[in-house]
Amino acid sequence: MKCPTCSRAFVRLPFLGRELDACPRGEWVWIARGRLAPFSKAIQRRPSRRDLASLEKECAAREKAVARALKRGTAPHQRCPECEERMAHQPLSRVGGILAHCCINHGFLVARKGFETFVDFLARGGETLARQRLTKRVAQIAREAKAAQEREAAGDLFSLLMSR
Ligand SMILES: [Zn+2]
Ligand SMILES: [Zn+2]
Repeated sequence: MKCPTCSRAFVRLPFLGRELDACPRGEWVWIARGRLAPFSKAIQRRPSRRDLASLEKECAAREKAVARALKRGTAPHQRCPECEERMAHQPLSRVGGILAHCCINHGFLVARKGFETFVDFLARGGETLARQRLTKRVAQIAREAKAAQEREAAGDLFSLLMSR
């Protein structure tokens, strides 16, 4: 596999007892599909509440920047090192605000710096943060559904009364 920007062959980057492919000039790290989960298990620590609060703040700022960048949509689209299809811009994970280039079939291309940020994110409890966010979102959806149900019930009653 070759680096999509400098065209040099990828080199093996030793990482946590495994290996990843990376650009020899240090531009990109390639995370093949399915390789992310074992790493996140190996890196993650149990964070304190205070750690999580500061991580959350940091991620929120990055997520905003990523959302802005995606909206502008001006960054070049890199080609997948495996299939050479143009990749989509996408956050590397739902939480964390790290932008990646994604081939739906083969994996993620991440800038070296973004990769380091991601490792730091996981080490400081990123997965816990993602889980917390998901729980909050699910609770919010449940609240919205309940409110909609109540509105509907009230509407039913109204139409029932009016039809008499
Ligand atoms: Zn390169
Ligand atoms: Zn591909």
